[in-house]
Amino acid sequence: MRILVVGGGGREHAICWALRREDRDATIYCAPGNPGTAELGTNLPIAATDIDRIADAADAYGIDLTIIGPEAPLALGLADRLRAEGKLVFGPGRAGAQVEASKAFSKAVMEKAGVPTATSRTLTDLREALDYVAQHAEPLVVKASGLAAGKGAIVCATRAEARVAVQSMLGDGVFGEAGRVVVIEEFMPGEELSLLAITNGTGIVILPPAQDHKRLGEGDTGPNTGGMGAYSPVAIATPTLLARATREVLEPMLAELARQGAPYSGVLYAGLMIGPDDSIKVVEFNCRLGDPETQVVLPLVMSGLTECLWRVARGESPSPLAVAAGFAVTTVLAAKGYPDSPEKGAAITIPAALPEGVTVFHAGTSRDPDGTLRASGGRILTVTAVASTFALAQARSREASAMIKFDGKVYRRDIGWRESVRQTLGV
Ligand code: AMP
Repeated sequence: MRILVVGGGGREHAICWALRREDRDATIYCAPGNPGTAELGTNLPIAATDIDRIADAADAYGIDLTIIGPEAPLALGLADRLRAEGKLVFGPGRAGAQVEASKAFSKAVMEKAGVPTATSRTLTDLREALDYVAQHAEPLVVKASGLAAGKGAIVCATRAEARVAVQSMLGDGVFGEAGRVVVIEEFMPGEELSLLAITNGTGIVILPPAQDHKRLGEGDTGPNTGGMGAYSPVAIATPTLLARATREVLEPMLAELARQGAPYSGVLYAGLMIGPDDSIKVVEFNCRLGDPETQVVLPLVMSGLTECLWRVARGESPSPLAVAAGFAVTTVLAAKGYPDSPEKGAAITIPAALPEGVTVFHAGTSRDPDGTLRASGGRILTVTAVASTFALAQARSREASAMIKFDGKVYRRDIGWRESVRQTLGV
């Protein structure tokens, strides 16, 4: 069995790790991969967005199944291209990937499907957008419609802040094309939940629910990032809530996408806001596994993942997964200056002996010819601990994060703080 994983971040390292754990004999390629995936398979030096060369590599290496990790190649139509060549692929085509690549599209589908979400307006004209802001209640959220690496949503406490955000996107073009269309929406209070569903468009298997930490700073302060850490499972995601989310969000969304001629297959990631009144509203959809959610979700899947992905790639219903009873917490170690201008090049030391149950997933790393590991991106490593209790997993992820050294290391020591509060209060 020859599998190609497309991408080179922490998510793709975790995917390769999970595939390898299930099948010692699988032949795994990763494009472009990173020093972590190099230990599990063969890296191919091809950018994830180089559609032509990835298609050529799938041929040249006799790939049986391609799993596409990041949103960019999905939005570029890599899955369509490979399918057109008769290949098995896990991931949606370009049309389905629009759920993430265009917030304007996603909002329109949600509205048609009756999926609960924040009231919003999609705008392209600076004047109209500023007028809309002037009438909007505070707080409010201004979002670039296109792909902006998780940084295109600006939560604005005041209309004045929203004006600046609108001006920066529609006036100054700070997000380039991605910000030429903006979505302005009401602020939703509550607690966020990442629901990752594997689906062939009709059948749904939900992965263990996770919670990300979008803000850079402890206590959820500072700018939005790609994600600074995550944990799974999440106590508020009760079986009742998951059943409601399936009925109220996933099923109508999939049905509406099919009705619009964009039948969906792959991972449909619903970023949910669980309101103080237990309401479920969609913050956003993603067309792939989350990063860093994958680094806590997959370590909890003990078996059945590979089979499930194969089935969906063949168009069949996803098969059930065996999920461990434990808890996983991951802490992202980022470079100094992340997210705006991360410094590259710091040498990284990972001690051989880390706390029990800890796995270090590589994200933005590179290796010198002499073996030295270096920081080469914004988010450098994700440090996952799996343990029998949440508190142990949290403590071990934090402890291991402190033990790993590189100049300028930035990380949050409070990953999972909401779950800690719940445990302390016994709720
Ligand atoms: P998005 O790119 O849409 O996922 O937004 C990034 C982050 O901004 C989310 O994970 C939330 O923390 C926050 N956010 C986005 N939209 C809203 C909203 N309508 N109400 C409250 N928070 C939001």
